[in-house]
Amino acid sequence: MSSIQVTHKQHLAQLISISQWAHQKGFTPATGGNFSMRVDDKSCLISASGVDKGQLDCEHFLHLSWQHQVLGGQGKPSDEAGIHTQLYQLDPNIHVVIHIHSMASTLLSRLCEQPELQINGWEMQKTLEGITSHEQCIRLAVFDNNQNIRALAEQITMRWQTDELKWGLLVRGHGLYAWSYSIEKALRQVEGLSYLLDCELAYLQLKRK
Ligand SMILES: [Zn+2]
Repeated sequence: MSSIQVTHKQHLAQLISISQWAHQKGFTPATGGNFSMRVDDKSCLISASGVDKGQLDCEHFLHLSWQHQVLGGQGKPSDEAGIHTQLYQLDPNIHVVIHIHSMASTLLSRLCEQPELQINGWEMQKTLEGITSHEQCIRLAVFDNNQNIRALAEQITMRWQTDELKWGLLVRGHGLYAWSYSIEKALRQVEGLSYLLDCELAYLQLKRK
């Protein structure tokens, strides 16, 4: 057993349960998506690249610094780790980051031609932190997909500095990143956002008929 599996046993168990939950929901097809949890003010635990998210075990996580140095564990970090590490640095209160490739987030992010997707009129918006009414407008930032993760992370940082992002963000034709200050809130947020995106997508389809 590696040192990461001993030192971070509880955190790894929590990350495994998050990944199994997301996989069961169909949010992580064909090894897509990744999950991370803050360890301290300069590193996190994150799922390794290329592993089926329904099969993740303790050995499939890495302890990764903000400079992308592997501090523990085996395997290779996903390129997308650069978004996770950037989010942790943008808000020191973020505890968990969940990245999924759900179909609704992938499709809607592509249909949306604006820099943000606006959602309103749904009771389930109240599942998001700070939202108390269906009349409040949810603004989800949308970024063009980019295989240059450093460039994408810089765009997210620039947007964040002028208008702090809340709950999550979308990457076009790709998926959703969501974050929160606790595991419970992160899971509720991903489930809530996914439900809202499902509603928006179905609503758009019905209106176009
Ligand atoms: Zn992805």
